[in-house]
Amino acid sequence: MRFIDLHCDTISTQVARSNKKIHLRKNSGHLDLERMRESGCLAQVFAAFLPTQEAAAEVGIKVGPQELFNQIYACYQKELRMNKDILAPAYSGTDILKNERKGRMSAILSIEDCVLLNGDLHKISALYKKGVRIMTLTWNYENSLGYPSSPIPADMERRLKPFGKAAVQKMQELGILVDVSHLSDGGFQDVAELSRKSHMPFAATHSCARSLCPHPRNLTDGMLKTIGETGSVCGINFSAHFLNGMTQNYTKIDDIVQCARYMRNKAGIDSLALGSDFDGINSTLEFGDCAGLPRLADALAMYFPAEEVEKICWKNALRVLTEGTK
Ligand SMILES: [Zn+2]
Repeated sequence: MRFIDLHCDTISTQVARSNKKIHLRKNSGHLDLERMRESGCLAQVFAAFLPTQEAAAEVGIKVGPQELFNQIYACYQKELRMNKDILAPAYSGTDILKNERKGRMSAILSIEDCVLLNGDLHKISALYKKGVRIMTLTWNYENSLGYPSSPIPADMERRLKPFGKAAVQKMQELGILVDVSHLSDGGFQDVAELSRKSHMPFAATHSCARSLCPHPRNLTDGMLKTIGETGSVCGINFSAHFLNGMTQNYTKIDDIVQCARYMRNKAGIDSLALGSDFDGINSTLEFGDCAGLPRLADALAMYFPAEEVEKICWKNALRVLTEGTK
């Protein structure tokens, strides 16, 4: 089986913030290139996660989001150079297939929290030129685009700001896939409306189903339906927080399979994908790490026909990256 994973924090967390002691090729986290290759990985989205406020203080980040992005980007480029025998950057779905033909896995760069845009549309073009092809509009704080998901209903209903709407339009014009994971429900509605107008898909790169696990980060049945109707995609997050409410902080393979079955019924089989959140989550995983992905595919095959397992593991993600990025 091949795999495309729509979200991991490996570059941000494992590599960029470890004083260069950890490398992407081989490390002891959830994901490295050797294990990716072993499991059949076709493409991995690497997020440049840009924490601010308390989240930045907690991990000892003292620089602002632009400088932090620059540091993560430099690290990403260095890892691409060091591992060019097995990994190549991809800027579209077509690139992923081209890289595969040359025997390379693909790396796609995303930004998690568009806080660095700071109300400036030109910065989107600059980031596009650097190769960013997915933008997660918010993380867990308000920024110039909009508001994060929240347990407080009035906060959850808050819509995108005018700059947020203009930013979504700009991203879709350029060929950057808009990511609604972490966004408020009101913001999701705006992204959905803009995507219906532009006929461009969007993604929830690492989110699960709220009806199964009532976490504000998860998607309601209505949102899953919208994702299906717009030809968009949802990457299932492997954190126990979002799958089972985390009584033990342990993720069983079956938790992911049941989430996939539920989402298939609400969004349709063409909208399911994987968004592991490897190296960004602290749950213990029954299948261990990225080397265990084939075990997940085998478990999915108990409930889904072979062509549907392929859609979940890579084909849907490839389609949305082909339609939504260029
Ligand atoms: Zn996240």
